[in-house]
Amino acid sequence: MASQKQKILEILNLAKSENRRELSEIESKRLLEAWGIPVNRTALARDVEEAVKIAREIHYPLVIKIASPDIIHKSDAKGVMVGISSELELRQAFKEIIKNAQTYKPDARILGVTIQEYLPPAREVIVGAVQDPSFGATVMFGLGGIWVEVLKDISFRLAPLTIEEAMEMIKEIKGYPVLAGLRGTPPADIEAVASLIQKVGQLAHEFPEIAEMDLNPVFVYNSGKGAVAVDARIVLGEGK
Ligand code: ADP
Ligand code: MG
Repeated sequence: MASQKQKILEILNLAKSENRRELSEIESKRLLEAWGIPVNRTALARDVEEAVKIAREIHYPLVIKIASPDIIHKSDAKGVMVGISSELELRQAFKEIIKNAQTYKPDARILGVTIQEYLPPAREVIVGAVQDPSFGATVMFGLGGIWVEVLKDISFRLAPLTIEEAMEMIKEIKGYPVLAGLRGTPPADIEAVASLIQKVGQLAHEFPEIAEMDLNPVFVYNSGKGAVAVDARIVLGEGK
């Protein structure tokens, strides 16, 4: 527990010492991982040779994403490529993704590209947290995409919360049948999602300097197979 917190403080303090309010995707994932939240393997490659070297350790197929503090929505910048299956493809994709980012935002600072473990398709959910000025740490949950953006099908709870409360959050969204399983679809690992929501709540509660947290998406597998965040963003605030 002590070393968990120490690791998290190290990540937060590095950002603070550099006057950064935002953690990178990698830093956000390391922080979540230190707190026991499952994330996919992710490493930064600053150039194409480094990318090739990392890819040999992570194994193909893999995913590459632009790493830039100035590009928040990576897909909008054509900065996410899924299912890279060979070194040749990786070399081409690396160049292309950097070019896409420069076209999207010519003055963006580009740190390189993250090389990530590819995860097979799953049901996608979003788990987030913010610090409410009057109520403190608040957790949100929803299914990804149109469920959240168009239908605003989201549930909220104050943190810290119990596993039972996290379970209620999951069950009260309109889209719950998507997770429970419908028309022959097997149920998703709702226990894993509840545990993840509970951990996110506890993290936001114990570290009020985390102003915002966004795990989007979390891939949820069938019952017993777990849930893993494949993208994460943490923003720092003043704290208390
Ligand atoms: P953005 O910055 O646009 O939110 P994401 O990292 O969320 O970028 O990636 C966009 C989409 O790509 C995700 O919603 C997910 O469907 C897919 N994706 C991202 N990472 C992976 C991965 N490791 N394995 C498989 N699919 C992924
Ligand atoms: Mg995302």
